[in-house]
Amino acid sequence: MFFEENGLPVAASLGGGIYTLGVEYHPASDAGLQANFVNTAANNEGSKRNLFDITANNAGSKNRNIDKSAKLQDFGYHIKGELLKQCYSDRFSSYKKSTLCGSEVEVTLADGITKIKYNYLCRQKWCPRCNRIRSAELINAYVPILSSWDALYMVTLTVRNVNALDLKDKLSEMQHRFRNIMRTIHRRLGTSAVRAIKTIEVTANNETKTVHPHYHILAESKEAALMLRDLWMERSKQAGDVVVWAAQDVARINSPEEAAKEIFKYLTKFLIKTDGKIAFDGWLLDKIYVGTYRKHLIQTFAFEKPKEDDESEVEEQEAVVDDGMPSTQSFSAAWKAEINQYVIKATGEIISSHDRSKTFQRILAIIKGEEPPRTR
Ligand SMILES: [Zn+2]
Repeated sequence: MFFEENGLPVAASLGGGIYTLGVEYHPASDAGLQANFVNTAANNEGSKRNLFDITANNAGSKNRNIDKSAKLQDFGYHIKGELLKQCYSDRFSSYKKSTLCGSEVEVTLADGITKIKYNYLCRQKWCPRCNRIRSAELINAYVPILSSWDALYMVTLTVRNVNALDLKDKLSEMQHRFRNIMRTIHRRLGTSAVRAIKTIEVTANNETKTVHPHYHILAESKEAALMLRDLWMERSKQAGDVVVWAAQDVARINSPEEAAKEIFKYLTKFLIKTDGKIAFDGWLLDKIYVGTYRKHLIQTFAFEKPKEDDESEVEEQEAVVDDGMPSTQSFSAAWKAEINQYVIKATGEIISSHDRSKTFQRILAIIKGEEPPRTR
């Protein structure tokens, strides 16, 4: 039933459902999000509670890492489940593979510190966990660089919304325009004078089924920032694109941390907020991932990109109350979707205490289409 590809367990299709390593999805039905672990001892009913409560030593343990991790897993499970319903998508097999992300973890307790190590991180744009990790890594890597810049100017360059199916072409067009502009700026100011970073963000409108791709650019000089904006207006008009001044923005940012947070936001938000209403649109989300496939999301100018961290070494750490438990303990745990918790594989004991809040429950209902978009 399972097979290996590049050392990774890969999902195989059987019957109506989709089977991944130990996890079963039925993407066409709502029941699909109830995953079953078939190969672990965790399958026993009546799992005991709750080993970690001993260590955490408090009832209000909601902020513990294992719980945050469980919450992200729960959320990601539903996002990926909805993407799997886009079964004709070019990205379908990648969606399938990424359902394994975070499904198994190694948890170590040592000297009052809990460490969680993920056996597999998918590093995909649609994974809430990997988005968060990537964002944090980028911020860490770029803050020291940005700290050495003379000043930080944030430029936002936009185009009008386009049909979601045209995203890829529009991004190519924008990239072409941007390259020309940079050439002009280099001619005027010199090639090395303009240090800058460009990232892409795409927002969506689920009523018109359109997307709004735009650039966030961090530039070191005000002169370059203003030139970028002016040339963007000029060249867009020449290309017959209707762009408005008000949508192009230049702002000075004082803190490198703030600038890094601003520029390394996620490619897109999972939930669409319009006039206070929260909606979810799996079809649109899929079109964004299809449209940005193989597009460079980050481009740097006049400096080298910092090296990215070794992917396998990502760990989350948490300081817990030291209750005098001396020994090091470690467990292999797996995600159990029926109860939305991590459980120890060998014994079935629940080790997380993720509790779906009212708001979280409503968001999941919106994602699954059980509840119409509504005001928060
Ligand atoms: Zn992931």
